[in-house]
Amino acid sequence: MSADEGSDTAEEAALGATSTDCLFCRIAAGEIPADIVHQDDLVVAFRDVAPKAPTHVLVIPRRHIASALELRETDGPLLGRLFGVAADVARSEGVADPGYRLVTNIGAWGGQSVEHLHVHLLGGRRLGWPPG
Ligand code: AMP
Repeated sequence: MSADEGSDTAEEAALGATSTDCLFCRIAAGEIPADIVHQDDLVVAFRDVAPKAPTHVLVIPRRHIASALELRETDGPLLGRLFGVAADVARSEGVADPGYRLVTNIGAWGGQSVEHLHVHLLGGRRLGWPPG
């Protein structure tokens, strides 16, 4: 193994592996176009292709995590970044006041259709509760 390969492996270990057949991994990698509103080394945020509210942004980790069911305590810094980005996006989209919703669906009965952890940021209208 060359020195370069060694450093790639270390970088992958730090950032986490991506899955080439995962839609959201491919959006994060820039392989599939999306309307991206934020990206950094850990997190990407892009507009949902089928918005359920005037503002509907998906906030995802670059690392492939199937759902919130997979999260561990060691993911704390990543989640801090993810929720911080969500707050920044809410402010920049102008929905922080009077309020908005963050939700993550898990599994079939939770309504999850893409198996890559994502937080929906929904705002721009009054949202009902409980959800259907
Ligand atoms: P969920 O059903 O909670 O897994 O959410 C998946 C979300 O991804 C849905 O709201 C879809 O509209 C959205 N979605 C699916 N494909 C794309 C895409 N290519 N770009 C942006 N959003 C997408």
